Amino acid sequence: MAKVECEVHYCVLENDKGYDQDSVQVTCTRCNHEVESYGQSERSVRRCFFLLKEECPRGERNYYTAGEAEEDSGPEVRILPPPKDEPQWKDIDNSEEAPF
Ligand SMILES: [Zn+2]
Repeated sequence: MAKVECEVHYCVLENDKGYDQDSVQVTCTRCNHEVESYGQSERSVRRCFFLLKEECPRGERNYYTAGEAEEDSGPEVRILPPPKDEPQWKDIDNSEEAPF
């Protein structure tokens, strides 16, 4: 069983009732087969992996994982560097030598 990385896209699909629904679209990078699943949770992604395995046009039964995701609209997590320890206003009060 080979390990196949898939492209996971977060998108919006229209469900059978005609409403927009947050969904995932997963593409097999080996054969470009594409499956979709409603919802954007990990469960939905795993459902897509299952579908890829079932529906693979090449009849391959691979182990599918999320490869490098191209997240156009998905939540983005950025780790910000800690704020720099810059002197703020404490050095400004230099009034001791003020000429009176
Ligand atoms: Zn495939």
